[in-house]
Amino acid sequence: MACEVKTTCPYCGVGCGVIARVDDEGSVSVKGDPEHPANFGRLCSKGSALAETLDLDGRLLHPEIGGRRAGWDEALNLVARRFAETIAEHGPDSVAFYVSGQLLTEDYYVANKLMKGFIGSANIDTNSRLCMSSSVAGHRRAFGSDTVPGAYEDLELADLVVLTGSNLAWCHPVLYQRLAAAKASRPEMKVVVIDPRRTMTADIADMHLALAPDSDVALFNGLFAHLAVSGAVDQNYISAHTRGFAEAFAAVSALDLAELSALTGLSQAQLRDFFRLFETTEKVVTCYSQGVNQSASGTDKVNAIINCHLATGRIGRPGMGPFSLTGQPNAMGGREVGGLANMLAAHLDIEKSVHRDLVRRFWGAPALAGKPGLKAVDMFRAVADGRIKALWIMATNPVVSMPDADAVEAAIRACPFVVVSDILRETDTARHAHVLLPSLGWGEKDGTVTNSERRISRQRAFLDAPGEARPDWWQLAEVGRRMGFSQAFAHASPAEVFAEHAALSGFENDGRRDFDIGAHAAIDKAAYDDLKPFQWPQPRGTQPRERRFFAEGGFYHADGRASFVAVDASVSRRANDTYPYTLNTGRVRDHWHTMTRTGKSARLSAHIAEPFAEIHPRDAEKLAVADADLMRIESPYGRAIVRALITERQAEGSLFVPMHWNDQFASKGRIDALVPPVTDPVSGQPASKNVAVKATRFEAR
Ligand code: SF4
Repeated sequence: MACEVKTTCPYCGVGCGVIARVDDEGSVSVKGDPEHPANFGRLCSKGSALAETLDLDGRLLHPEIGGRRAGWDEALNLVARRFAETIAEHGPDSVAFYVSGQLLTEDYYVANKLMKGFIGSANIDTNSRLCMSSSVAGHRRAFGSDTVPGAYEDLELADLVVLTGSNLAWCHPVLYQRLAAAKASRPEMKVVVIDPRRTMTADIADMHLALAPDSDVALFNGLFAHLAVSGAVDQNYISAHTRGFAEAFAAVSALDLAELSALTGLSQAQLRDFFRLFETTEKVVTCYSQGVNQSASGTDKVNAIINCHLATGRIGRPGMGPFSLTGQPNAMGGREVGGLANMLAAHLDIEKSVHRDLVRRFWGAPALAGKPGLKAVDMFRAVADGRIKALWIMATNPVVSMPDADAVEAAIRACPFVVVSDILRETDTARHAHVLLPSLGWGEKDGTVTNSERRISRQRAFLDAPGEARPDWWQLAEVGRRMGFSQAFAHASPAEVFAEHAALSGFENDGRRDFDIGAHAAIDKAAYDDLKPFQWPQPRGTQPRERRFFAEGGFYHADGRASFVAVDASVSRRANDTYPYTLNTGRVRDHWHTMTRTGKSARLSAHIAEPFAEIHPRDAEKLAVADADLMRIESPYGRAIVRALITERQAEGSLFVPMHWNDQFASKGRIDALVPPVTDPVSGQPASKNVAVKATRFEAR
């Protein structure tokens, strides 16, 4: 029977509302939800093509053990037994979960509860580590909590929007549409794009600053110094609500324009113009994304940006604030339930005994992990050297997406026991699984996701579960029960899981913790089914309301103040004589991650059909490469063969290659095989940008 269901797009962190319609013949069509506050009816190319990606081609439809079909009981018993045996023999830290920002919050919650609460290890990390963990770390250093202070509306209300390390037009397209529409209606609004590449986003920019790779800290430290020296700082805000200004200023005060120009590759006139524009515009939003986060200095970059907003008191008021844009649809929801190895559920801190005690009591979990677990890159190192002997991978494809991907593949292949929960049977990762568990996909599963502006929305099912596929939270709860934790994993529905998650967020929370959705602690199935998008926090006894954080201080450090962080402006130049080019990786407009879904849509694939390397005309000439020639790109870690796309959008000396293609779509297209396993020392986020490579014209034999 025909039906219409309100749900949420499963791609990027904008989190657009979607209305899915199933007609009498079972055909699905989608349109934007005009009532959803993230998109007000808009969809981008990926969201519009959702109905084209729902076929069952390649789907994993029943559990498999060693390549043969198995029943759920047999498969779940085996997973529970092998995990229990490994833990008994080698201890809880010998097992790990590697999960995903594609999971729903309910899936994430149960995974965290099982690993941190009952297995007793914090070895659960996520592909969101690759996406926004530097923002999390920067927020926590500055604010004492992982809190995004503003909302999407701020981009429309600002008089200056600074986009740094963010190709908003392609990576967060509906937010870009909102910004472009606001700019068109308010010509006085200015947009500055800071990116080594002249991306499509720069097409609406009043100023494009093609800074040298990884020189963001230098640029924002220079801005900080300029604001302080020119008297543009808000002394009242600094004195009332912050600490550490003097130390942070001391770290930047000696920077002059000549030095900044040398560090950033920008002219002194460009620097002067940008600094003056920021200084003289009260309503400024600075958005940042993977160009900031995916760096060996990602956390410092985030804090350099936040320092400028704290210094001017431009935070938490309409049209003002630093704004981290998450890549994945539920990167934020994963953070809320402690989906990172160094966090606990409900934004609690695994390194604080008082927080561990709270969660231990709430869950009734005496074995609760007492220390942070292994972050993604270290986790796969531990798989490689045999410390981790049982690994459960959910809804992600690390053989394609992790840095040093060939080594990650070898580690997974050699791991004694690998479980993969996925919707597809033959991903590059699934082929190495001992046990395959069929999961539900978009349109089949029920739960919640949280977008970049802290808005929690429902994903609702409108299709029957195919074959024997089951939800991820159910698989985890079943394994938990079979490992002996029957009471803790007695959840019968995602509504029950959400209610428990909400109750934990409000448990003994007297307002000293930011994340609180305690108002939903007693939610029943009917109310959950009807749940409208809302922004957190929503403490017990309150109604949903839009809010921003920190206009009047109220930070989550013990003294209630924000911390300025003194950050080092030095720039590491990775390119060298042997590997003279700088490689940056990123997204294209019409594909998502490793293309396991968007690759199904001919319409989406028609935009860009194969992997490419953007290269500046002078570099192409030096390499005797013509447009559409094949190029070999190599690092000490791996190589890829891609087609040349010669363009002046690319800075000389650097290359851009999209991250999406894998061995299913290109014979040697896994660009992350070239990325070294270098991480930010604070966040553990891999540096997927600024990779030193060499490039040559490729002659097919
Ligand atoms: Fe989906 Fe993001 Fe496009 Fe919105 S902007 S429709 S969330 S991919």
